[in-house]
Amino acid sequence: MVELANFGALRRRLGCIRADLLAGLAAERLGRLLPTASVAKVGPSLVMCQFRVSDVEDCDRRIAAIEAGFVRHFIIDEMSVRIELTFGAASGPTCVDDVALVEQAEAALAEARTAYRAVRHDVAPRAQGDIVRIARELDHAIDADELMLMYQPKVHVRRQEITSAEALIRWRHPERGLVMPGDFVPVAEQCQLIDRMTLWTIRRVIDDQATLAARGHALRLFINISGQLLGDAAFVEEACRLVGASDAKLGFEITETSVIRDPESAIANLQRFADFGITIAIDDYGAGLSSLAYLKQLPARELKIDKLFVTQLTSSNRDPLIVRSTIDLAHALEMEVVAEGVETHAALALLTVMGCDMVQGYLISRPVPLDALVTYLNEGAHRRPGPDPLTMFGGLNPVRREA
Ligand code: C2E
Ligand code: CA
Ligand code: CA
Repeated sequence: MVELANFGALRRRLGCIRADLLAGLAAERLGRLLPTASVAKVGPSLVMCQFRVSDVEDCDRRIAAIEAGFVRHFIIDEMSVRIELTFGAASGPTCVDDVALVEQAEAALAEARTAYRAVRHDVAPRAQGDIVRIARELDHAIDADELMLMYQPKVHVRRQEITSAEALIRWRHPERGLVMPGDFVPVAEQCQLIDRMTLWTIRRVIDDQATLAARGHALRLFINISGQLLGDAAFVEEACRLVGASDAKLGFEITETSVIRDPESAIANLQRFADFGITIAIDDYGAGLSSLAYLKQLPARELKIDKLFVTQLTSSNRDPLIVRSTIDLAHALEMEVVAEGVETHAALALLTVMGCDMVQGYLISRPVPLDALVTYLNEGAHRRPGPDPLTMFGGLNPVRREA
């Protein structure tokens, strides 16, 4: 049993109609957070959720996940409101009568109501507590301008020019310093902050693209899009609106596994993005469960070979074969191939011989802030001719340190 603990206060603040609407939105969010549960609103501020658990800890984990999912505020009539929850749970073997379980859960809820904070905190195991803390801070960080983007160029091998760059997100945390995406993007995905975070990114990239174009470098800028967003109609709508309202040249990098989850809506939404002039790139190719069947159906123009294969290219016997056949396959499907994680001249030389179209990696440049990218482009370092195309990146020192 999940009770909206601050329902009375919300009703006083917003009025009955808005408070009832909010309760409906809360029940919907619960349904999304517990996809395998049956979720029903059983009172003005009470929702019943029934699901199978393996043990009591499993039940606690789900409660903690709900808590994390409710960190994000609800927006109603342009007001931002937070819904506080109280939980009462009961579990038993499948043979136990449902009515008995509901009664026990109600009793637990009554107990939790009186000991409100204490019970809620006991329930969250430590790791989940961390997630809740990061989610709260991130929720604030998105509005507080604590996020920033670094750009890593992609070089077209034959044309010897930088044709695009990838935006990579960072969090300038007031106490913990620069936080890398691996430490907060998964939390954003789990706690339903990823849509807001990505819309922030799209807005910033549109601005940055205009800045670049004004300085004479009209590069296409690529944004990483989490798989779950491909099934989020509201996100797709807003992303298309933002892109449609600008004339920015953009690209979206998506992983192939994200399409396999719900191919129909993912493919339809990717097609919508492509219709808006957004170039679709398949990221991390080869890292997950690849399915060539889907590859053919995607409106993708670029295939990015996962850096795992590229960094081991010159030291392993198997990887060169995989990379080679991937390049041939992509070309047969009329896609351009990007190798990411190019760190050595040896890897660059081999990729060039194999017909790889574009390269990206520390050899060319680390991810750098926008200003540094402009300086790098102005210097034209990557274009300095070498005696032989395979050594075109030789003799210069374009490797940038990340701030
Ligand atoms: P990714 O999209 O595969 O990005 C490539 C990662 O490889 C980046 O790490 C980049 O800094 C790193 N890298 C680039 N060149 C080299 C190289 O030569 N050698 C090696 N070893 N690594 C290289 P980063 O910036 O830490 O990003 C990690 C992941 O976080 C990204 O993987 C992407 O999946 C995710 N991410 C980053 N920004 C965003 C974002 O705005 N939204 C979403 N949803 N995910 C993001
Ligand atoms: Ca990427
Ligand atoms: Ca990648």
